[in-house]
Amino acid sequence: MTYQHRYLDGSPSALPVGKVVCVGRNYLEHIKELNNPVPETPILFMKPSTALVELNEPLRLPAGQGACHHEVELAVLIGQPLRQTDPALARRAVAGYAVALDLTLRELQDELKRQGHPWERAKAFDGSCPISPFLQPGELADPQDCDLSLSVNGELRQRGNTRQMITGVFDLIALMSRYFTLLPGDVALTGTPAGVAALHAGDQLALGLAGHRFAARVE
Ligand code: ZN
Repeated sequence: MTYQHRYLDGSPSALPVGKVVCVGRNYLEHIKELNNPVPETPILFMKPSTALVELNEPLRLPAGQGACHHEVELAVLIGQPLRQTDPALARRAVAGYAVALDLTLRELQDELKRQGHPWERAKAFDGSCPISPFLQPGELADPQDCDLSLSVNGELRQRGNTRQMITGVFDLIALMSRYFTLLPGDVALTGTPAGVAALHAGDQLALGLAGHRFAARVE
């Protein structure tokens, strides 16, 4: 099914579906678990619009490319063009908040890193960004202090709070906009807390964002 941004009540957003701009290593505990150095400046990367799929459709993992890890993240829907903006303007441009998975082919990413190559094949493949319906901006009391969680088959795998981010939500969007103009319908992902691990066929997922729960299933 063709992806379209939607809100919690099922109504479609009028915004087009754009790119996804992401950050690597934005939570200290996650940096430690992968033995990565703490970056001096945020590591930005992108996924194309074809990465976006609805979270409630069966998730399709790429076959034969090694472990595919879950990374649960706060996602921000951009509602106004942002170019070299500041955090206050970035905040006013938000059209919604969701919870997303930054699916990552971890073994392939490790190999690409070793070779000094870009990460796209490991991070930007079709369907690599399953995403929940969006909360209206006013429905998330404080985007910089909300719980994020992911359980797989009833076992809690990832739990964090967005106040643990190294670079906060709106500073991050402002930073992104220095390099890439953000357009209405683009999505910003804000990094993952600790607990990333591989997904397997048949896994049942429960994603949490500030008291809202969303179910997903791996095909
Ligand atoms: Zn991520």
